[in-house]
Amino acid sequence: MLGQMMQMPLLISSLIRHADVNHGDTEIVSRLGEGSLHRYTYRGAHRRARRLANALGALGVRQGDRIGTLAWNDHRHFEIYFAVSGSGAVCHTVNPRLFPDQIVYILNHAEDRTVFFDLSFAALVETLAPRLPKVKDWVVLTDRAHMPESRLDSLCYEELLAAQTEDYAWPVFDENTASSLCYTSGTTGNPKGVVYAHRSTVLHSYGVCLPDVFGLSAREVLLPVVPMFHVNAWGTPYAAALAGVKLVLPGPKLDGESLYELFESEKVTASAGVPTVWLGLLRFLEERGLKLSTVNRLVIGGSAAPPAMIRTFREKFGITVLHAWGMTEMSPLGTVNHPKAKHLDLPEESRDAVRVKQGRPIFGVEMKIVDAEGRELPRDGKAFGDLLVRGPWVMSSYYKGEGGEVLRDGWFPTGDVATIDPDGYMAITDRSKDVIKSGGEWISSIEIENLAVAHPAVAEAAVIGVPHPKWDERPLLLVLPRAGQSVTKEQMLEFLRGKLAKWWMPDDVVFVDSLPHTATGKLSKMQLRAAWRDYRLPTA
Ligand code: ADP
Repeated sequence: MLGQMMQMPLLISSLIRHADVNHGDTEIVSRLGEGSLHRYTYRGAHRRARRLANALGALGVRQGDRIGTLAWNDHRHFEIYFAVSGSGAVCHTVNPRLFPDQIVYILNHAEDRTVFFDLSFAALVETLAPRLPKVKDWVVLTDRAHMPESRLDSLCYEELLAAQTEDYAWPVFDENTASSLCYTSGTTGNPKGVVYAHRSTVLHSYGVCLPDVFGLSAREVLLPVVPMFHVNAWGTPYAAALAGVKLVLPGPKLDGESLYELFESEKVTASAGVPTVWLGLLRFLEERGLKLSTVNRLVIGGSAAPPAMIRTFREKFGITVLHAWGMTEMSPLGTVNHPKAKHLDLPEESRDAVRVKQGRPIFGVEMKIVDAEGRELPRDGKAFGDLLVRGPWVMSSYYKGEGGEVLRDGWFPTGDVATIDPDGYMAITDRSKDVIKSGGEWISSIEIENLAVAHPAVAEAAVIGVPHPKWDERPLLLVLPRAGQSVTKEQMLEFLRGKLAKWWMPDDVVFVDSLPHTATGKLSKMQLRAAWRDYRLPTA
């Protein structure tokens, strides 16, 4: 016997339509590249998304065509998200911070036929265009008055929209149709594409809104710091439309001062981003002795949120950090850290031990950890192994079949090493590539880094395995001191002693002027390992 409910496909266009009908006057505020603020509403966004859908049709864009973007978080990028996917084409956001060669590779591999780009990338695009023969239209995200001087024959976004009407009926198609495309940063080998579907995106949006996930509602003001070119800003633009959240889009300026101003002036209640941006904001707030008066929670993920950061936000600013974990292949959300009722009365230290974990899986994501032979390991919070996931918003294969068969018995191997405790909280010990293999045993680089950054003179720290004649690899701690502060190697080691197993203690501490980051703001362990490969440890 079958259920007798309607077969309505889950489509991205339904999110913006819902926001228009039910939250038509809720604002979307954007800071533009020039610094000015742009304001309109979900109704205004829906109108312009329909004009854009007509413009895409006029350009000859057809269902399934890939449409690239090189753009910051603002209202125009928001319109592109809905117009491109809603009309049946594929919204391909490209990270402009990647090396030019990687951008060229990605645009060619995806065969983007139209690319929308921000004014600030005009020079970049002009140099890349000759290597991108498949792109038919280049569209600058600006008005006629600001069109750049360029040898490239590009179109003006505002003119494209002005030439169209708002009359557009969103087409209805199979919910499994491709909606958007993101490439992984490709720390090894070429970047690989992950193709999301309308169905997976809408289901993920429901997940994002849940109380124990981001807890979005029509009473919230959300400022996604995470870029719209980084796994669809963790799905927040779609989820915001679903819940009728006021959205504040910060444009290109993500420094502490710029974020502070927007948080205060727009009465932002929640935000989301990678640890490095919060380092910048914290530094700014502490230097100026400022507080955030409306923000009550920050979702921090993409790399491990240092426990010291989680504590500082809570104790000094009254802000709850929600530690989250996910990846491009998972749309991206997998886990978020919220307490359970039984944690609420525990002493702070016991609660801290839970808070630093990456959190519990959202319904829709199943997880398990396995050993080298693929046997499932116990959920005891101690055993650690390869983390596998599955669910309706987890990828099943890469675009164009790159990398071949990726699933193992229907599970996606995340490449992370983790523990899972009896309450379902998962803690990442490392990326499997970054784990330090010392005498056949594993040392977690993240755990040592978390302890090191708790030292008041440390701004940032990285731990990598360096070749060792006896133990294969031993940990080297690289420390970036805070401006104007100093600390010695001995003091650093003394600070760690007693907090780590003896054999986890770094064999050396080296102070550096800067640490390399990837295009998505993570410590680039690969670059560090290459740079320090020949370093002779004092113990060697
Ligand atoms: P990108 O670099 O574009 O974000 P990925 O999707 O490859 O690309 O990043 C996912 C990886 O980032 C995860 O597999 C994990 O290793 C790491 N990561 C994400 N969130 C966290 C977190 N909260 N703690 C530790 N590592 C994390």
